[in-house]
Amino acid sequence: MEPSASGERICPKCGALMAQISYRDLFVDRCTACQGLWFDWNENMRLRGDPVAGELDTGNPNVGVMLDAIEGVLCPACHVRMDVLGVPEQTHVRFDCCPKCFGVFFDAGEFLEYQHETLLDWLRGLLVRLGN
Ligand SMILES: [Zn+2]
Ligand SMILES: [Zn+2]
Repeated sequence: MEPSASGERICPKCGALMAQISYRDLFVDRCTACQGLWFDWNENMRLRGDPVAGELDTGNPNVGVMLDAIEGVLCPACHVRMDVLGVPEQTHVRFDCCPKCFGVFFDAGEFLEYQHETLLDWLRGLLVRLGN
């Protein structure tokens, strides 16, 4: 599928269009098909610890688990290959992170888990190291 002229993003996992969702003063991209979530780096940081941010994650976790198996997908923003990151203490939580723009993609159900586990401190530490 070709990226659209209006700058909409394409889901890295299933190729469907992503819709921009207004959440407070942020815009989050959510896939219209698999409901995966894309966060620009600063958006991700600002959602930190927000107890209702999990409402964004409306997808079917079973679909998320299926799509989680797809690795090496391209960043929807800068089209470089993303890294799959796992969390040492929570090996079931995996997400895709762009090494260039530090955006992150969560399959359906993963962001909820991510919120609950509050692993952002860990993630931020990792990305600070990557950025240096
Ligand atoms: Zn998708
Ligand atoms: Zn990127």
